[in-house]
Amino acid sequence: MDYFSDEFLAYLELKQDMLFHKIPAEVIWSYLEKSLAIGKTFASQLNSKDIFELYAESDIKIKEEKHDGVFYKVQMRAQFESDRKGNNLVYLYEKSITQLAEMNKLSLKEMKRIILAHEYFHYLEEKGNKHVYDQFMPIESIKILGFSQKAHIRRTSEIAANAFAKHLLSLKHLPSFYDYQYLLRTNQLSMKDIEEEYDQFNTLERTQTNS
Ligand SMILES: [Zn+2]
Repeated sequence: MDYFSDEFLAYLELKQDMLFHKIPAEVIWSYLEKSLAIGKTFASQLNSKDIFELYAESDIKIKEEKHDGVFYKVQMRAQFESDRKGNNLVYLYEKSITQLAEMNKLSLKEMKRIILAHEYFHYLEEKGNKHVYDQFMPIESIKILGFSQKAHIRRTSEIAANAFAKHLLSLKHLPSFYDYQYLLRTNQLSMKDIEEEYDQFNTLERTQTNS
């Protein structure tokens, strides 16, 4: 059994959204499918598959950082930044990417290529001024005394960025697969945890989407 299908990895990603519990159960499947489809479509629209060439063409600077990438206990591998002048920059946290590459028996260059592809998708979102999460119905995050606030499900962008990287580079799995391998091999997660998530995932209603 392939535990790491695109939909399941996308589900694990979506679950990390702060508002996951607010998403109506019957639309979760469509969120997964639509996010994956958006990423795939973006990849098919590019004329180059060479990520370094794409960065050069788009004038995105790559900055390799010695920092371990841990900010407020969250492990970052990379970060895309765009300033008001339109300068684009991707930070790569070398140390954490090296560990990820080693655990997955990939070369550092291959791992960087995957991470850069993910970040390139965020650049495309920024450039088009159209974020993936804007294409989903906002979810009511708070409702107090008749006052309601709506918020976006930001993880949909992450799923799309991963689908983009997978299709651009013809990977077998979404890039988050490597993160899970890392967590499993460093005993931060067990296969039992994954199986439990998988059982939950299997209870989702699989609706047909026409996007
Ligand atoms: Zn991202």
